[in-house]
Amino acid sequence: SLPAGVSSRRYRRRSNSSASYRVSSCRAACEMVEGAFPSWAAALDRLPESALQQVSQLYGSRPMGPADQPDYVNAVVRLHTRLSPLALLDQLQKIEREQGRVRKDERWGPRTLDLDLLLYGEQVIQHERLIVPHYGMKEREFVLLPLAEIAPALVLPCGTPLTELVARCPRNGLEILACATGE
Ligand code: ATP
Ligand code: MG
Ligand code: MG
Repeated sequence: SLPAGVSSRRYRRRSNSSASYRVSSCRAACEMVEGAFPSWAAALDRLPESALQQVSQLYGSRPMGPADQPDYVNAVVRLHTRLSPLALLDQLQKIEREQGRVRKDERWGPRTLDLDLLLYGEQVIQHERLIVPHYGMKEREFVLLPLAEIAPALVLPCGTPLTELVARCPRNGLEILACATGE
């Protein structure tokens, strides 16, 4: 569980209504230190007008596409926010720029960070910069499994229960690595 009194992103404080429900996925090709609160989670926890509610465990996944690249580390978070969907996307991309850049002089080599907005309450968004629900989430084991961990009863805006998607999704070697909060 999270430290008490966090003031960030994921779940909106003012209600538990589905309209305030947002989930983002974090996909990081970085070395994760077991027990450490990841820097992306700390950044999400500092988002304006937002409150981080929940962070899934960290999941290791095989890369999509070319196999000659390192495995990925994935997690899904829930946050409450008063930011609009596009304002939230702006904030996610800002964190990516701040943390996701390849820094060749770093000890552990290149790393990337990808923060995607999976769901925004029950809204369906078709904007040139933002498609919600995220277009690939229904087929991606590294999204569905961590999402099911923190929102097992979730029903997507299309009416499909998350459990149904999980049941028919190949695991592709997905494995739990660690709990993001170290507890
Ligand atoms: P994928 O979208 O397949 O997961 P990716 O996350 O690596 O790939 P990015 O380069 O991070 O792709 O994003 C490309 C563009 O996708 C962004 O510029 C953003 O405007 C757009 N986009 C559309 N819908 C979303 C969403 N739900 N969450 C994040 N970005 C989105
Ligand atoms: Mg992505
Ligand atoms: Mg992305």
